[in-house]
This record gives sequence, C-alpha cells and structure tokens, in this order.
Amino acid sequence: MPEFVLWKTFSAGWIVHVFLVNVGLTVLFAGGLHLYFYTFKGQGSALKFEKRNLVKNNRVFFAKSQVWDNIFWTCAFGVPVWTLYQVGLMWAYGNGYIKMIEFQSNPVWFVVLFLVIIFWESTHFYFTHRLLHWKPLYKMAHHIHHRNSNTGPWSGFSMHPIEQVIFFSVALIHLVIASHPVHLFFNFYFSALAAITSHAGYSDVVVKGKPCFDAGVFHHQLHHRYFECNYGTSVVPWDRWFGSFHDGTAEATERINQRRYAMHSS
Ligand SMILES: [Zn+2]
Ligand SMILES: [Zn+2]
Repeated sequence: MPEFVLWKTFSAGWIVHVFLVNVGLTVLFAGGLHLYFYTFKGQGSALKFEKRNLVKNNRVFFAKSQVWDNIFWTCAFGVPVWTLYQVGLMWAYGNGYIKMIEFQSNPVWFVVLFLVIIFWESTHFYFTHRLLHWKPLYKMAHHIHHRNSNTGPWSGFSMHPIEQVIFFSVALIHLVIASHPVHLFFNFYFSALAAITSHAGYSDVVVKGKPCFDAGVFHHQLHHRYFECNYGTSVVPWDRWFGSFHDGTAEATERINQRRYAMHSS
C-alpha cells in the first residue's frame, strides 16, 4: 500500500496505486481460477457443482458470453467502487477522522477485531442481500448478479453498481469502530476475494488427487439455483435462524419452493 503520509491528500499517484493492486488481485484470483478450472480444465469435472458449462451464445449476456459479461461488470463497476470506498476510508485515516488503534496499546483487542470483522461481514452480507431481494431492488440491480444461475469465478463481482455500493458498505464499520488500517485492508480483501472464490463453481482445488484448497461455496451455489434461500454465509447461521436455510436435500428444495411461491403470490 502507498505510504501512510500520502493518504492525507487525494492525489492520482497513490489512488492509481491502490486501484492497480485491486485490479491485480482480482485478475489473479478470478482470472487464475477461471484459467485453471474452465480454460485448461485443470481437474475436469471433479468437485464441480453443476454439470452444465458457463453460458455462451446467449443474448442475456454482454457479448453473448457469460464470462465476458462477468468480466465487464467486474472491471467496469466492481473494482472501481471497491477502490473508491477504500481510498475514501484511507483518506479518513490519514486525516484522523477514523480513530486509530495500535497493536502495542491493546494487542488482544487488535487480534479479536479480525474475528469481529469476519462475523460482521457475514451479518452485513445476510441483511443487505435480503434487502436486494426486495422486488424493486431486485429488478433494478440484483437481477444482474442472478443471471448467473451457474457461476464461475468472474461471477462473484458481476453486480450492478448499486449492488456494489451496498456490498462494499461493509467497510463503513471503520467509521464507528476504532481500528488500524490493516483491519480495513483485511475487511476489503476478505470480502472481495471471498466473493470471487465462493462463485468458482467447484468446491475445491484438487492437487494430486486430493481436495487441497477451498474454492466455491455450496451454500451460495444453492442460492443461485433456488434464489429465495441461503442469503448469508456459513459463518453466522442467519439463514437457519430465519428459516431460509437450504442444505441441498430434496426436502429443503420443496420447502424453499413453497416459500418462493408464497413470496411471489402475495
Ligand atoms: Zn452470488
Ligand atoms: Zn441473491
């Protein structure tokens, strides 16, 4: 990251620096996983959630291609919105508008705050995602993401700018809780990179015949298949508490279909 002293004043040099880091990480994660799973078919269909492939030749998508469409929404809106939030909050640190803590003054809280951010991210995602399923917002914004009923790594950020603004508002917690910039970066990179990997379409990366790294998330894959379920993540079980949990069984599908019917017929 650019030196802290620079954050006090907006200038193109360090803002472009942050933008390029974010572009680089997005290309590395989304592009890397896409090349491995879909271009070079690194593990064939092993641990792939859906038998079908990513969509080609469909007018629903920009350039008739799901992958190019997803890259477009990610690069045109996703990374810029993320960078704007990040740069704004870095500027707020630089000017003392965010109360800063240091590891030396309270090491326990400094470490615990990373866990708080993980739980906060899960909670924020659940409630904002439910909001995005409110009909007007769904029609205006969230439907862009849901055109991906089968997802790939580039689908994670393939969102309407309104949804991007809501998604990255997760980082605004730093305006009300004292933290260190390293917490802010963790918040952004955890949220952004998890969005990419969780849509990979495969549960794991297989190395030498064994699942080695977590990739896609079954919980969220089911959300893309059945819509009105699994709005959150597995970290905080909001879906279980609010009756929207789908575990992949036929019984759960029946229950969620009835719920969907009730929601859309009212
Ligand atoms: Zn999704
Ligand atoms: Zn959704």
